[in-house]
Amino acid sequence: MQSMLAQDDLAFKAQCEAYAQGELAALAQKLGEISDVPDALKTSLAQSGIYGPLFPQAYGGQGVSAVRICLAREAIAGVFAPADTTFAMQGLGGYPIILAGSAAQKARYLPALAEGKRLTTFCLTEPEAGSDVAAMQTTALPDGDHFVINGRKHFISNGYSADMGVLFARTPTADNPKAISAFIVEKGMPGWNVDHRIALLASHDIVAFEIKDLRVPGENLLGPVGAGYKTAMQTLDLMRMSVGAAALGMARTALKASMRFARRRVQFGRPIVEFQAISFKLADMAVDIQAAESLVYLAALKKDKGDPAAALHSSIAKLHATEAAFRCIDQAVQIHGGAGVVKGAVVERLYREIRPLRVYEGTTEIQKLIIAAHLLKQAKNEDV
Ligand SMILES: Cc1cc2nc3c(=O)[nH]c(=O)nc-3n(C[C@H](O)[C@H](O)[C@H](O)COP(=O)(O)OP(=O)(O)OC[C@H]3O[C@@H](n4cnc5c(N)ncnc54)[C@H](O)[C@@H]3O)c2cc1C
Repeated sequence: MQSMLAQDDLAFKAQCEAYAQGELAALAQKLGEISDVPDALKTSLAQSGIYGPLFPQAYGGQGVSAVRICLAREAIAGVFAPADTTFAMQGLGGYPIILAGSAAQKARYLPALAEGKRLTTFCLTEPEAGSDVAAMQTTALPDGDHFVINGRKHFISNGYSADMGVLFARTPTADNPKAISAFIVEKGMPGWNVDHRIALLASHDIVAFEIKDLRVPGENLLGPVGAGYKTAMQTLDLMRMSVGAAALGMARTALKASMRFARRRVQFGRPIVEFQAISFKLADMAVDIQAAESLVYLAALKKDKGDPAAALHSSIAKLHATEAAFRCIDQAVQIHGGAGVVKGAVVERLYREIRPLRVYEGTTEIQKLIIAAHLLKQAKNEDV
């Protein structure tokens, strides 16, 4: 499928791969397991030019491109997962401003995000509102020319290191008591506090926020009151398939490491790759990877063309690629035997890093609900 990409997309892919395999790999080695975004990583990502496809040309990007977002994540995720998280959050926190921001908001925030000078977050999930986003309880109530926000946000990636974010909260009106709106918030605004950092099974900057009497100027409202839910869903529609791309990158790294190991590890007098039980695992991984690549880039191409079916394909791609990558990495650990579960082994690290991808931006079960809903709609239209 990637061979169907345009020449300039392939050039971008080569640029991302060169960065990932060179500078980023060296940095990963130096930094090891991290739970924030050290300055060295922030600077490296900023200087690499990798944020380009997340932002319009008018604000310092290359133009928003789902294909290139996927290429970037695929290249970096298998090398250094924390870099992938930072990249993805720049998209999740930046795209709502692209979608719904005023000219002044775009001019104020987007160039600094595109250059990587500022880091951002996407604050949607709450302790009681995960898959069920609409159960959100955080409120933003008007007070003169400000809104006063109270509530809690949970599992917010980049939350410790980012200096700004897009925060979603309920803004009940007489017409729409369940309305949700989006706000730009900045670190340093009194009332937006990291409540605690959350330790995950693998490197990840992730926190829970407590929001207490946070006074946000009306000018920080993103789009009209009540438009926040749509903005959040449209943002996830752009980024969801790229979770599949990150998984794909991790699976490729696992296959490469397994191939290398299986060709060198000798048991019963021959390299284990010569045992059919091992070579079949490698073949299964290759098939899973090829299918994931096809689905991810099909979804991305559809998104860039404005095809209305892109959202469906995005869910399909996310579901398949994350589940397939998990299978591949599990097989990779098995191929490595004991060496695969030693702390610090590439496949041991991937085994921990892949797991959250089946959960965030909509769990596998939620993707199935979305896909099934599309099928039902189609069946009704066709009167099946
Ligand atoms: C590493 C990581 C990073 C994250 N980063 C962010 C971030 O930056 N910003 C942000 O806003 N959020 C973020 N999240 C939150 C993430 O989007 C949620 O964890 C996810 O949507 C699932 O919500 P939950 O954890 O509350 O699980 P729950 O919604 O409680 O789900 C628990 C289980 O029930 C299943 N389930 C729930 N409802 C249904 C249903 N209707 N039918 C069938 N099964 C169902 C789920 O699939 C899951 O298996 C992150 C999460 C993780 C793990």
